[in-house]
Amino acid sequence: VKARHGNGLCFFDPQMQTAISNRAQLETDLKSALRNAEFLLYYQPQFAYDGSMVGAEALLRWQHPERGLVPPAAFIAAAEESDLIVLIGNWVLRTACVQLAQWQQDPRCEKLQLSVNVSARQFRHAGFVDQVLSEVARLGARAHLLTLELTESLVLDNVEETVARMLQLRTRGIRFSVDDFGTGYSSLAYLTRLPLHQLKIDQSFVRNLGTRPTDEVIVQTIIGMAHNLELEVIAEGVETEEQRALLRHYGCSFYQGYLLGQPMPITDLLALLPPP
Ligand code: C2E
Ligand code: CA
Ligand code: CA
Ligand code: CA
Repeated sequence: VKARHGNGLCFFDPQMQTAISNRAQLETDLKSALRNAEFLLYYQPQFAYDGSMVGAEALLRWQHPERGLVPPAAFIAAAEESDLIVLIGNWVLRTACVQLAQWQQDPRCEKLQLSVNVSARQFRHAGFVDQVLSEVARLGARAHLLTLELTESLVLDNVEETVARMLQLRTRGIRFSVDDFGTGYSSLAYLTRLPLHQLKIDQSFVRNLGTRPTDEVIVQTIIGMAHNLELEVIAEGVETEEQRALLRHYGCSFYQGYLLGQPMPITDLLALLPPP
């Protein structure tokens, strides 16, 4: 590894070397995490306007034997640099489908929908559509209760191919949400071309509701746009009553955030449901 210097000479940078060997180590560790079943899903509840739970977002955690519970920020980016993200993403999909199939056996949660994050590399991978459809079919999960969250940059990257893939899944009932909505270069033109069900307002806008007027305009605009396009709209990162009240005032239909529930193990999520 070389760092460029002003005179054109290259010097060895020991710090870079450490970062890269750590990355190699991380990849090795992630592979063994898959083998040793160290991944698990946390579930963050999502609520309707009236306060009833409508579903959850599956959020990946790594139960590391020494480091404890590791959040995805510490390893997803590294996994995305290789097809490791495909292996991990497949594990997430499979586990989510197992969960959905289980929910369907229980009248308290048979209508809960489950959102799963899909990274760009995973979505573009040749086997993705088949992978999703076969897991859903094999495990007997109801496809219309599965929402795949795609980021704005992913859907914009190659709209043609994205739409084709989405349609293959959409015709089988699978739903799509645009995650972190508002942070990219969204245009109405592309929104209308995508077979979407939901926009998810990025938490960076929700955070400043009530304090930064420009973000209020953005949130109002996104909600209005969603309604006009007949899409659901969900706000993430709802942390205060004031934010929830403003979102409700603007007509937001669904809510997710620490105010209403942190990401939690499945048993804790189910304990939040009203008794049958
Ligand atoms: P995201 O999809 O935007 O998920 C929302 C993140 O915000 C989650 O962090 C969640 O715990 C956090 N959050 C929820 N409510 C609040 C709130 O009220 N306030 C604040 N400040 N934060 C809140 P988490 O679980 O650490 O996940 C981080 C990111 O990692 C996710 O962002 C997603 O991009 C990625 N990720 C998580 N699970 C998966 C997965 O299974 N596959 C892939 N490809 N990415 C994943
Ligand atoms: Ca998400
Ligand atoms: Ca998000
Ligand atoms: Ca995010």
